[in-house]
Amino acid sequence: MYDVLIIGSGPAGLTAAIYTSRAGLKTLVVAGTMWGGQLMLTLEVENFPGFENGILGPDLMAAMRKQAERCGAELILENATSADFKSKPFKVTAGNKVYEAKTVIIATGASSKWLGLESETRLRGRGVSVCATCDAPFFRNKKVLVVGGGDTAMEEALFLSKVVSEVKVIHRRDKLRACKCLQDGAFANPKISFVWNSTVQEILGKDRVEGVKLRNVVSGEESVLPCDAVFLAIGYTPNTSIFKDQIELDPTGYVVAREETRTNIDGVFVAGDAADYRYRQAIAAAGSGCKAALDAEKYLIGT
Ligand code: NAP
Repeated sequence: MYDVLIIGSGPAGLTAAIYTSRAGLKTLVVAGTMWGGQLMLTLEVENFPGFENGILGPDLMAAMRKQAERCGAELILENATSADFKSKPFKVTAGNKVYEAKTVIIATGASSKWLGLESETRLRGRGVSVCATCDAPFFRNKKVLVVGGGDTAMEEALFLSKVVSEVKVIHRRDKLRACKCLQDGAFANPKISFVWNSTVQEILGKDRVEGVKLRNVVSGEESVLPCDAVFLAIGYTPNTSIFKDQIELDPTGYVVAREETRTNIDGVFVAGDAADYRYRQAIAAAGSGCKAALDAEKYLIGT
């Protein structure tokens, strides 16, 4: 029986594990076969405080994992396949074993959607990005593309416009999905222009992004557009499918958090991108992991 069972091993889950194990709570992290979360897919991280010259995403996660283990957390590299929060102790199944715990912290994160192109995978971190906040400074005064027509795409385009010389938004339709205020901001921005009714067929470049091959979905015409980076903003999928009959999720699948990290089930907490579609930053996830750990500790001592 664990005091705290944490599902997920990104910045939220590992920070929670550091706090709960240091508090003397018996802690298990169900870390997943691909442990470490989204930063494992990132090269340089320049905005995580404490690293003057930046740090590689996988190095940052390896350090967090070692720190959690040194503090006493137990990690298993299995995926959680089901959860039962209907009775106590809570039960989580991972790798054909059922683990029992007095509290659970859900820190399963969210995954960016990708186009599914071979060239996109090959050039990830070499000009292909899913995070303007993280990677815009690498493309100062360069020409970049944003793919998507939702709120995230407009926010990414507006953010990038402060740093790069030119942003072209590639959208598959001729109307944006984004809210009016973001649309208005993007249309009024002289650095942002739009390529309508177009999809990215291929990202071009050998070792770094040099352009994209586009297809106009109305005319069928193909064209090449040179650029230095492609920022994908076609949505996110919260990794919460195993909780769908167990806990309150919003219509898009994010865990509904109340009072910071509490869920609708007493003793089950949430941290990081599984509940946060707004900030989506490693440092914000780490901060919420800390809060969830403190909330779980308070719950266990009955305050
Ligand atoms: P989203 O609303 O699902 O928009 C995704 C966009 O990408 C859509 O324009 C979609 O095109 C396009 N798209 C999806 N798959 C594609 C593909 N395979 N190829 C090309 N284009 C593709 O996602 P989001 O913008 O990340 O927003 C998610 C949620 O978070 C929304 O509820 C949003 O309101 C919220 N959010 C809010 C804020 C804010 O309030 N400031 C900021 C960010 C996000 P179609 O339009 O044709 O479907």
